[in-house]
Amino acid sequence: MDPAAQRFGTRAIHAGQRPDPATGAIMMPIFQTSTYVQDAVGAPRDGYDYARVRNPTREALQANLAALENGRYGAAFSSGLAATEAIVKTVLKAGDHLICGADVYGGVDRMLRHVWERFGVDFDFVNTGDLDQVRAAIRPETRLIHVETPSNPTMTITDIAACAAIARDAGAVLSVDNTFATPFLQRPLDDGADVVMHSTTKFLNGHSDMIGGALLTNSGELAEGFHFQQKTSGAVPGPFDCWLVLRGTKTLHLRMPAHCRNARQVVDVLRGHDEVESVRYPGLEDHPQHALARRQMRDFGSMVSFDLGTEERANRFAGSTRVFQLAESLGGVESLVCVPFTMTHASVPDEKKREIGLGPGLVRLSVGVEDGDDLAEDIEQALARL
Ligand SMILES: *Cc1c(COP(=O)(O)O)cnc(C)c1O
Repeated sequence: MDPAAQRFGTRAIHAGQRPDPATGAIMMPIFQTSTYVQDAVGAPRDGYDYARVRNPTREALQANLAALENGRYGAAFSSGLAATEAIVKTVLKAGDHLICGADVYGGVDRMLRHVWERFGVDFDFVNTGDLDQVRAAIRPETRLIHVETPSNPTMTITDIAACAAIARDAGAVLSVDNTFATPFLQRPLDDGADVVMHSTTKFLNGHSDMIGGALLTNSGELAEGFHFQQKTSGAVPGPFDCWLVLRGTKTLHLRMPAHCRNARQVVDVLRGHDEVESVRYPGLEDHPQHALARRQMRDFGSMVSFDLGTEERANRFAGSTRVFQLAESLGGVESLVCVPFTMTHASVPDEKKREIGLGPGLVRLSVGVEDGDDLAEDIEQALARL
């Protein structure tokens, strides 16, 4: 069967992989090697000369992720931040301008302010959920727009197709961090984005046992730039970590519906509860961008934020759950709870956090795939202790 005609679940399991020609091993081997023996000087077999540049396990992962995002090319990196930085280094030079979503992953804020500012890259953080703000921020030097949707942790939705049109008119590249939604729920390249970025650490791996990142694109020119960054900056993932993500994506289409279902059950406990001031979940009809989320996403994901008003109450809640574990990160099979103000977003300046509506009382849940009734009961008992 033509792989391009296969449906999502079939691609998740098979794309980029075939039985090992030497043994028939059904699983992609872990090519745990740094170098490859050459038949003669300057004649590497199949172009494999050094593992920073090429590794078959990594190439299988890159092809698998590209297939899931409907992209032609993939490049894997040693972390989501390394992948994000590879976009910056490929697209921008000193004097260029970047428009970045105001509430993208906290580490991107730190990278721009503490690294790229020193190298003359200019940037503005804007609420990309409001397209007028994106348009107003465009300058002649704007070369990159980087958005995250749904965003972290305020669950703002950005209209990808509309941002793609704005980027095209400005001669800029649009990159979309698709970590929260995964290609099961949303495929930004189909909506006109130039690059999809992932922290594979999260849902794609899905089992909280490695750190990694990836970039997917249909542009041969951008793909060449990303592969140049793998070779030149060297932030490539090891073959075992690539293999773990490949194993993870085989069940992505089974895990995501369970994640979404459990999130809905937890949201039903939170909303309308006396102790909870507000709940942010794109699946709620009173979410300000619910209609856009419905149009752009297949389901609403399993990231849920809610406000308990004060830092003291948020901390008490986060310390009271029994199934939800108190930890940073997200997207694994196990449910996690965190307080973004003091944990994941600690490096974002306080006044900026307040600007984007990230208060000290905000709690973020990554709803896992345990039994939904146990998760709902855990939230109820932790709220009861407030
Ligand atoms: C975790 C995360 C990142 C950073 O990825 P790392 O793998 O931790 O470097 C970027 N974006 C989002 C949305 C994330 O959740």
